[in-house]
Amino acid sequence: MAKSTGKKNNVKNTKNIHELQVKDLHITVDGKEIVKGVSLNVKSNEIIAIMGPNGSGKSTLVNTLMGHPKYEITKGKIMFDNKDITDAPADERAKAGLFLSFQYPSEVSGVTIANFLRTALNELTGKKISVPEFMTLLKDKMKILNMDSAFTKRYLNEGFSGGEKKRNEILQLAVLEPQIALLDETDSGLDVDALRIVAQGVNSVAAKTGMGVLLVTHYQRLLNYIKPHKVHIMVDGKIVKSGDAALALKVEEKGYDWVK
Ligand code: ADP
Ligand code: MG
Repeated sequence: MAKSTGKKNNVKNTKNIHELQVKDLHITVDGKEIVKGVSLNVKSNEIIAIMGPNGSGKSTLVNTLMGHPKYEITKGKIMFDNKDITDAPADERAKAGLFLSFQYPSEVSGVTIANFLRTALNELTGKKISVPEFMTLLKDKMKILNMDSAFTKRYLNEGFSGGEKKRNEILQLAVLEPQIALLDETDSGLDVDALRIVAQGVNSVAAKTGMGVLLVTHYQRLLNYIKPHKVHIMVDGKIVKSGDAALALKVEEKGYDWVK
């Protein structure tokens, strides 16, 4: 019999499957209904993609799943491992194992990437990992992601290129090892290199930990590198079509009008 490694997030055995379930979710922003009844599931070892035109409500959906207070749920439910988390605060969701990569609009001066990640990990686990222990862990992760260790001494976002911001997000993913990751790849100038960083990072963390991924993407191209098990097309706050990876290619070829 295979022995468990005893590692917290090792879900490569079937006993430890985690699941996020979204049931008929309706979301209002500033009095306007943006998400109009979305249902979907994401499990461990699964990559689920959401595609859709600008303004269809994709970011509203993922931010709401993470518990952002700006969004009001007017109907429907969010379940995580069969627990209702519809009204749970964001930190509770993060502790349960949901992860949304943080995007920093501005530079944070005086905080190195290493320090930031250690603080984030401590907050998540409620323990204090020692600096040397953390540095060993971090080096390990950077090796997996093929990153140069000099990177972690950099200050958060200070002069970061698009690709470096992505590296930072993926490193967060590798350090925090969520059960289910919510990744919102906005169309804010991801070049081919940045796409590759995201893809390789997501694939290697997913392969190692078995995390489930809900991947919002504007780019069909990204799905050439990250193979989704399922693709949902979202238009005007609703999932209008679902299928396998071939659906993404079809949308790329024929546009969103074809599915409406
Ligand atoms: P997507 O990520 O699919 O491009 P968003 O979820 O960002 O779409 O936006 C969906 C809709 O919600 C858009 O019409 C947008 O204008 C509107 N919206 C988003 N955030 C706000 C907000 N804070 N106040 C008002 N409307 C918003
Ligand atoms: Mg968006």
